[in-house]
Amino acid sequence: MSIDFRFTEEQEEFRELLTGFAERELLPRYVERSASTDFPFDALRQLGDLGVLGIGMPERFGGTGEDDPVLLGLATETLARGDVNLASAPIQVGLVAAQLVHGSEAVQERYLPGLIAGEHNLAIALTEPGSGSDAAALRTTATRVPGGWRLNGEKTAISWATTAVAAVVYAREPGTTRSGGVSCLVVPLDAEGVTRRHMLGMGCLPLGWGSLHFDDVFVPDENLVGEEGRGFQVAMHHFDFSRAAIGLMCLGAAERSLEEAAVYATQREAFGKPIAQLQGVSFPIAEHATYIEGARWVSYKALWAREQGRAHTSLASMSKWWAPVVAKNAIEAAMKIHGNLGYSAEFPLQQRYRDVTAYLVADGTAEIQQGIISKEILGSGRVADY
Ligand SMILES: Cc1cc2nc3c(=O)[nH]c(=O)nc-3n(C[C@H](O)[C@H](O)[C@H](O)COP(=O)(O)OP(=O)(O)OC[C@H]3O[C@@H](n4cnc5c(N)ncnc54)[C@H](O)[C@@H]3O)c2cc1C
Repeated sequence: MSIDFRFTEEQEEFRELLTGFAERELLPRYVERSASTDFPFDALRQLGDLGVLGIGMPERFGGTGEDDPVLLGLATETLARGDVNLASAPIQVGLVAAQLVHGSEAVQERYLPGLIAGEHNLAIALTEPGSGSDAAALRTTATRVPGGWRLNGEKTAISWATTAVAAVVYAREPGTTRSGGVSCLVVPLDAEGVTRRHMLGMGCLPLGWGSLHFDDVFVPDENLVGEEGRGFQVAMHHFDFSRAAIGLMCLGAAERSLEEAAVYATQREAFGKPIAQLQGVSFPIAEHATYIEGARWVSYKALWAREQGRAHTSLASMSKWWAPVVAKNAIEAAMKIHGNLGYSAEFPLQQRYRDVTAYLVADGTAEIQQGIISKEILGSGRVADY
């Protein structure tokens, strides 16, 4: 069979549905929503109703049942045209749920239906004040006690820290080092001993970014996810999915920005003609459209490879380091084409720039991704992914 870059009919239908939703429901209030630290749960429930949060989730809890990473990527790319922050919700839900399905029946019943319906969300707490890129250096401890664990430590820079009902927390058995002895525990954030602190970022305000402090918090046995002491490996596997989806999300915001710039360039006149007729304006549009298209297909290939059960760690890292850079640069170019309006807080361009910039760091920096890619190339001696 020859190579085929087309989406299926079902995927195209879903994309059309979400494009309409992003344009009509999300985009008009994006700037207003982004200025607030309140998460718009009304819009999250709309995503639940559209079925976006149930892709690949167990059918008995309201999901589609069938794993479809490409569809999830398509959804995040499309939704980001309207609101980048809301577009991150399916990725967060996908990451959390991929872990909860390895939890007890009680944990699944408590959290999965609400996640899929968009009624609540959970945070993922890995980063600590002393360990980010070097996640295996985490220090939060989970000490065995009758009926469960006692959790002590601090997590920082956590999305949804202020609004989540619970967090998926990575903590180690005292005395263990690196990835050994790390377990994944679901911790209700109203439990005794949990304190939350909001952190203000340059964008992504509705995502409730912040730190979580655990002071002798009791976590019952049933809240263990996966095998005790093997939580780290599971977390790393799922990041291969989120990295490619994040790339597409950033690109969705960039596509919309560049399209706005193309329209504006045909309307705005300078020196007696539309600025679109100036190559200094039209060539950057062509250049950034080229980068966007290239980065899109690296990201979709990573998701396709995941769906096919093929190795995709390197492709996922390529999407994660490159796509946010491509998106940020394209949005910057679109801002410049809009002149003073591009800088105006009344327009979405500056907001997209600030929101997309988060993903140069969140979920792993470019240096960490390039370390993963180069290790694979140096090991195999091959560059192209056949
Ligand atoms: C908006 C946002 C949302 C986030 N959400 C979450 C979340 O929900 N959950 C969560 O657990 N974390 C979250 N994070 C944290 C994020 O994953 C970390 O910030 C990231 O992994 C980097 O860790 P760090 O900030 O500690 O930087 P460091 O690890 O201290 O890195 C500092 C600098 O050193 C470089 N560096 C480090 N190691 C190497 C190396 N080996 N080679 C070359 N350069 C290196 C890095 O690239 C970086 O430039 C979020 C971050 C942001 C900005």
